[in-house]
Amino acid sequence: MTELNADAPRDFIRTMVAQDVAAKKFAGEVKTRFPPEPNGYLHIGHAKSMCLNFGIAEEFPGGLCNLRFDDTNPTKENVEYVESIQEDIRWLGFDWGDRLFCTSNYFERLYDYAVFLIKQGQAYVDSLTADEIREHRGTLTDPGKDSPYRSRSIEENLDLFGRMRAGEFADGAHVLRAKIDMASSNMNLRDPILYRIRRAHHHRTGDAWCIYPNYDFAHPLSDSIEGITHSLCTLEFEDHRPLYDWVLDACQVERHSQQIEFARLNLTYTLMSKRKLLELVEERHVTGWDDPRLPTLMGLRRRGYTPEAIRKFCDHIGVAKRDSTVEIALLEHFIRDDLNKRAMRVMAVLRPLRLVIENYPEETVEELSAVNNPEDTAMGKRTIPFSRILYIEQDDFREDPPKKFFRLAPGQEVRLRYAYIIKCVNVIKDEVTGDILEVRCTYDPETRSGGPHASRKVKGTLHWVSTAHAVPAEVRLYDYLFLVPDPGNDKEGRDYRACLNPHSLERLTQCYVEPSLRKAKPGSLFQFERQGYFCVDRVESSENWLVFNRTVPLRDSWSKIEKAQ
Ligand code: ATP
Ligand code: MG
Repeated sequence: MTELNADAPRDFIRTMVAQDVAAKKFAGEVKTRFPPEPNGYLHIGHAKSMCLNFGIAEEFPGGLCNLRFDDTNPTKENVEYVESIQEDIRWLGFDWGDRLFCTSNYFERLYDYAVFLIKQGQAYVDSLTADEIREHRGTLTDPGKDSPYRSRSIEENLDLFGRMRAGEFADGAHVLRAKIDMASSNMNLRDPILYRIRRAHHHRTGDAWCIYPNYDFAHPLSDSIEGITHSLCTLEFEDHRPLYDWVLDACQVERHSQQIEFARLNLTYTLMSKRKLLELVEERHVTGWDDPRLPTLMGLRRRGYTPEAIRKFCDHIGVAKRDSTVEIALLEHFIRDDLNKRAMRVMAVLRPLRLVIENYPEETVEELSAVNNPEDTAMGKRTIPFSRILYIEQDDFREDPPKKFFRLAPGQEVRLRYAYIIKCVNVIKDEVTGDILEVRCTYDPETRSGGPHASRKVKGTLHWVSTAHAVPAEVRLYDYLFLVPDPGNDKEGRDYRACLNPHSLERLTQCYVEPSLRKAKPGSLFQFERQGYFCVDRVESSENWLVFNRTVPLRDSWSKIEKAQ
């Protein structure tokens, strides 16, 4: 029987690392790395990887985590991504100190390793075309065939590889391959390509190189050069591990890192593939990498997600060896939980309906006291102006209320938050269209919140703003970007573009927020009472025109009842 131990490692990777430390493997050191390819912006899947790599480095004494740009594919990478990635990592709260590296720093050393392999008879220059190489590779059931160039002499290979580097050949004319085993049951070991000729300008090395190493060659060696002890990667690299080890053994490196695979994060109703995210941006299905509907860290940040919520979410889902998909509702739970503690409660009316309190004096304005956040009294109080003419939410009034509609209706009473109980006495409609223009109410002056009769009970409480004091604003309501839970892998075989939700963004431009928000700063977070959490847009909000993004709605009990009916 195993005993429950509060200090026991949380997952199989931490267990392995702890065992290695105890056994003094790698001299007891723990060194991880986070190796993004600068070909896109980071997303929440990367957050999982960062929480793991930086997290482990923080948890083990003396542990370190490097940031390494895995920049071996110049055609897709650029400086914009390099900068945004660093910003996102810092925002999430991780720090690589002075350990910022790039695979391109090692191009010369990687080249030397390749030459070493050639000299050992373990790599050769192949001159088959890409199609021929594919044909020679065989299949899962059939072994591959040796290339006729496999038996080139070491001298000839050295000469050709040197000339590949010198730019004597066209792209694709030759490749450098490892000489392993064309009959291996692991396809990755059938003489994998180590270098390709590719005339492309690199954002760091410029035009110094026209040959570039492949991931399977560059990655293990970069790990070894940096002294990485545990090289954590996602499950699709499990079949590459024998190659990872082969490269390090064949190159006779001193430091042989351990590759460990874990399941990547998948979330429902979204996509995590950088290629598809780039297509969504380039084809303008979204407004940019920071579109609040994207799972990018930029997008989540603009939407109002906090680093704390994302990290807690990542901690909660943990790491496992099996691929699975996490419900997006779980991520939403963590942001609600976090914002519940930190967001000030305010009142905002998104779809306004005019309400006049007939028996309230015309010139009077009362400053009513409101608690900023009942979860955190240190956040203090503020006042909200109340007057005779207000806006309430259109949804909060029904002329013919269904059962259990505890909001405003003719003859029905509700409380106005922080204020009085009112009763609807009349409805004014447009004579032609029949649209409701205004509701007329009376108030009971005895029932002011906090007063002696405040405890008189009515079933509904509505939020409101005073028309004379409220600040006009725009509110953007977001829904899932896709209509299906797994758009990257649709059950009906549709392209993910065919699964886009046409209503993923609803812009409301006639909203009103209480006057305390007039000077709200970009990025600040609020709970709009009864509605959800909202964030002042960092990009488009200004002093003259406030724009709010809905981060996540509150759980809305009435809409559930209505749907069920
Ligand atoms: P893509 O396959 O879309 O190009 P990638 O995995 O190649 O993405 P990288 O920039 O190479 O993206 O990823 C950097 C690190 O983040 C890698 O170690 C990778 O394993 C990890 N990572 C990427 N996506 C996820 C994910 N969804 N869940 C967990 N880790 C991830
Ligand atoms: Mg990658």
